Amino acid sequence: MKRLFPILLTVCLSLALAACAAEQGTAVTETAEDEAVSVQVFAMDTYIDLTAYGPNAEAALDEIAGEIETLDGLLSVTDENSEVYALNHADGAAVSVSETTRSLIAFTQTLSAQCGGALDISVYPLALAWGFTTEDYRVPTDAGIADLLALVDESQIVVDDEAGTVTLPAGMEIDLGAVGKGYACDLAREILAEYGVEHALLNFGSSTICLYGDKPDGSRWRVAVQDPEDDSTYAGILELEGCVVDTSGGYERYFTDEDGTVYWHILDPETGRPADSGLISATIVSESGLNGDALSTACFVMGLDKSIDYWRTYGGFEFVFITEAHEIYVSEGIADSFTPVYDYEDAEITVVSQ
Ligand code: ADP
Ligand code: MG
Repeated sequence: MKRLFPILLTVCLSLALAACAAEQGTAVTETAEDEAVSVQVFAMDTYIDLTAYGPNAEAALDEIAGEIETLDGLLSVTDENSEVYALNHADGAAVSVSETTRSLIAFTQTLSAQCGGALDISVYPLALAWGFTTEDYRVPTDAGIADLLALVDESQIVVDDEAGTVTLPAGMEIDLGAVGKGYACDLAREILAEYGVEHALLNFGSSTICLYGDKPDGSRWRVAVQDPEDDSTYAGILELEGCVVDTSGGYERYFTDEDGTVYWHILDPETGRPADSGLISATIVSESGLNGDALSTACFVMGLDKSIDYWRTYGGFEFVFITEAHEIYVSEGIADSFTPVYDYEDAEITVVSQ
């Protein structure tokens, strides 16, 4: 196995983290109009912090919390009652599943085809083999990886909307972990709109952060992009409103072997090993949480050049990429909104244009 950035020993837990926590409520003169309500939910293997402002905030957040729990119940890989669990244990048979599960799988199939297979939800048996799902970490043998790779190819999944079913080839197992939080974020945005909420900050475990509207005082939200090489600090600050910020980084879940080699939880479906693309953090800013979540994972796997090619071909999002050479690449649409900080203050920044 190639050495994966051995110096990343101190790398850490969360991805982009909301630097705005201290500002919520304090920078604002609170009135009934803009009072903050916060709810925390544990779902999708992470703590989700939801904060909204205004008279309908509480009702909206209650509904969002319920929807997130329902979604988790459909997509969980461990809950024996979930649809994904049923698919993973169907042994090649068609399974009736909800429209939500069908459309999520179909979405990832389209994106997977567009990005040359960098995103592939059927990589799950490899995540199991590496122990990323159980935290019982180990480096699988080359033969073990080769055997499991033979079953990775999500284009072989059959989604039948007329019959309302999905069929996986026998032996294939899937995990929608790379897109679930982004999709939950989009559900939440719809509910906020229905309730007429104008300002909210939804933090899905720091890797998906929805900046709904602007802040109650009319200013933009400030979101920190985690320093991928040091868990105690940030690489930069983004000042944005009305968008979703998704980050994938190797520091989120990883283990280190006795030689100091670091192995992280985002896998390259081509090699069956932790992605080694030269990117150590991929942040996507977009309107859609689902697209952003999928793309942050895909770009982390594709690496800098292919990700920029993808952006130039398909567009619809902005990005901040950090390379293992300590360089930052920012797309032109958010270049003015990004300020590098701390160890990255002197990093080389390249603004990428279409
Ligand atoms: P997180 O959900 O940890 O914030 P990501 O959105 O990048 O980060 O998703 C990572 C998760 O997606 C992993 O925990 C694993 O379950 C799954 N995964 C890992 N590599 C891939 C891949 N290449 N394609 C699709 N899913 C992946
Ligand atoms: Mg993702």
